[in-house]
Amino acid sequence: MGPQYSATISVDMENFNQLLDVDPISRRARVQAGMQGVDLEAALKPHGLSLRHYPQSFPCVTVGGMIVTRAGGHFATGYTHIDELVESTRLITPGGVIESRPLPGSGAGPSADRMVCGSEGVFGILSEAWLRLQQRPTWRSSASIRFDNMMAATEAVREISQAGLYPSNCRVLDEMEVALNRVADEACALLVLGFESAHHSVNHCMQLAIEIVERHGGRVGPEGVQHNAQHSDQSANAAESWRNAFIRMPYWRNELTAYGVIADTFETAITWDKFNAFYQGVIKELGKTISELTNRKYALSCRFTHVYPDGPAPYFTFYAVGDEHGDLNRALAIWKQIKQRSMELVAELGGTVTHHHAVGRDHRFGYQQQTSMLYRQGLAGFKAQCDPKGIMNPGALIDPIDKAIGLRGVMQTNE
Ligand SMILES: Cc1cc2nc3c(=O)[nH]c(=O)nc-3n(C[C@H](O)[C@H](O)[C@H](O)COP(=O)(O)OP(=O)(O)OC[C@H]3O[C@@H](n4cnc5c(N)ncnc54)[C@H](O)[C@@H]3O)c2cc1C
Repeated sequence: MGPQYSATISVDMENFNQLLDVDPISRRARVQAGMQGVDLEAALKPHGLSLRHYPQSFPCVTVGGMIVTRAGGHFATGYTHIDELVESTRLITPGGVIESRPLPGSGAGPSADRMVCGSEGVFGILSEAWLRLQQRPTWRSSASIRFDNMMAATEAVREISQAGLYPSNCRVLDEMEVALNRVADEACALLVLGFESAHHSVNHCMQLAIEIVERHGGRVGPEGVQHNAQHSDQSANAAESWRNAFIRMPYWRNELTAYGVIADTFETAITWDKFNAFYQGVIKELGKTISELTNRKYALSCRFTHVYPDGPAPYFTFYAVGDEHGDLNRALAIWKQIKQRSMELVAELGGTVTHHHAVGRDHRFGYQQQTSMLYRQGLAGFKAQCDPKGIMNPGALIDPIDKAIGLRGVMQTNE
């Protein structure tokens, strides 16, 4: 337990909502941290520019929130985390201001921006940032590809991710995810594949990717390959059905919880060499845990949200009966055990506790499993400089206890 506080202050960033500068030559903008993603896109549109960073929570995110949680956007490859779109930051801490220079790149020591991205408010408040922008795409190509099973799809996607093709969308859905979201009329794993560019046609990239997937037994879905497809009224398109389901998905949880149903997700990243064992291990072991805790049928599914040349970012969703009489306290107790087991499994099997959902309080256990004590002591030492009284977002990421241990550690190292 951390120290008790006699008061809590919430800082409302709503009025830090301005687009301060747009530089169309270097394609970047200076933005206040309280600006909502939706408003930023609207303000950039007349300039023909876009951040093109759309987390699933896009309708309600702020620029500051995305940066300090290291949000992951919709791009499956290339610029996935917002880190890559941050050129400089201005952090207001109780100990003073930390500001970095807006530069295209710099090799000058550990980057101050790296301390801000993912800091989750524990060092200070991000007031503004320079962000790298993109032109709005005019060329698009998309397709959905069916595979007999998840492993065949995984092998195809590994080859695509290592071929330098950089699809903007490359989501693999396992058989359960396909069934739950009803995006195909047969039992299969599905790859939703898309390319986009503001500069050139991407048809050739799609062609090369199709050659790869067909070598791995993939079959292009009945809607075929769609070039320059806009997200519109293509109701027969599996990619479009998936996109609609994807946007609605998180809101099911709000409905289901009221009926005592546990619906939650956890996401991670793992290297390709470990993926098969990782996937089988999570599906088997977490399934066992859910089954033992609830004594009922459950659903546990997986999709890739992002893929890198060295591995995918699998995203798991589970539905379980917490209490059939709607006892929410019982459901909450069961959820906590499932959540804890998911973190243990992810850590044991070699993954990260979060690829883009941040650490906060729920993932503290997993964060400690995957980081060394010395590193956390270093963070605590930095926090002590920025926030000597430990008032900034206590309990998130690292807490005052870590801070005390950290200070002792730093002093011992210096002696
Ligand atoms: C339905 C749903 C879907 C989601 N999908 C995604 C997804 O696809 N990708 C993804 O990355 N995440 C996702 N998330 C998680 C979350 O929405 C994102 O991480 C988002 O970036 C958080 O931004 P926010 O503005 O909502 O921050 P908040 O939730 O308001 O804040 C997050 C943390 O940052 C701190 N903070 C916020 N602003 C500042 C600031 N200016 N300075 C210092 N600290 C600050 C807060 O104190 C808090 O600790 C999802 C969440 C939900 C509920």
